[in-house]
Amino acid sequence: MLEDNFQHKGLRKKLIEEIRKKGIQDENVLKAIHAVPRHWFLDSVFLQHAYQDKAFPIDEGQTISQPYTVAFQTELLEIKPYQSVLEIGTGSAYQACVLAEMGAKVYTIEYNEILHRKAKRMIDILRYDKKIQCFLGDGSQGLKQFAPYDGILVTAGAPAVPEAFLFQLKIGGKLIIPVGDNDTQKMMRITRKEEKHFTQEEFDNFSFVPLLGKNGWKS
Ligand code: SAH
Repeated sequence: MLEDNFQHKGLRKKLIEEIRKKGIQDENVLKAIHAVPRHWFLDSVFLQHAYQDKAFPIDEGQTISQPYTVAFQTELLEIKPYQSVLEIGTGSAYQACVLAEMGAKVYTIEYNEILHRKAKRMIDILRYDKKIQCFLGDGSQGLKQFAPYDGILVTAGAPAVPEAFLFQLKIGGKLIIPVGDNDTQKMMRITRKEEKHFTQEEFDNFSFVPLLGKNGWKS
């Protein structure tokens, strides 16, 4: 069932060229996207579309992010092998697997129990379980247990930057988070330069499903 044939690999190569043209330059990011068979993370009705640069519905009214968006966020994170990353919003686990392919130690948290269970099963089947640990809970408060992190990647749109994330970063660590209203969010990168000194950069607009929970939108 989980086959990855030459046709899939060919489609993935095309996808890589497409997102390279859209501006992704980090070869390690492109390699990681190439390494993860995205069609394994989609419902079978969308299989034919797995290598289009589009977001698709997964269960529970949620979405698997567009490959370009996954690449963009991963590039901003500038993660190096053996560094730790906390991902907020496991969803299909696709982004988590891309981070694992970057060599990161990944902690990922999901609010929705059905998605969490499905993602965990997928990670076990694909043998990413040594590299990715899945948690069920409200990720808008981060995950104190394994903090501080080299990177925190938020894959749902937040109304504002939750302070909890800032103080779960290492010095030099980066938070990548889309912030805005329900329709569009600005991608932000916040770097913890010193204990209490942070810098903030703003990038393009994106459209994510809402971050729920204590520091997110009220459900
Ligand atoms: N990274 C995912 C895409 C995530 S879509 C992938 O690669 O497929 C956003 C996800 O964030 C949804 O699954 C949603 O249930 C989850 N989410 C929303 N609010 C959350 C919260 N407070 N904590 C953890 N997950 C949350």
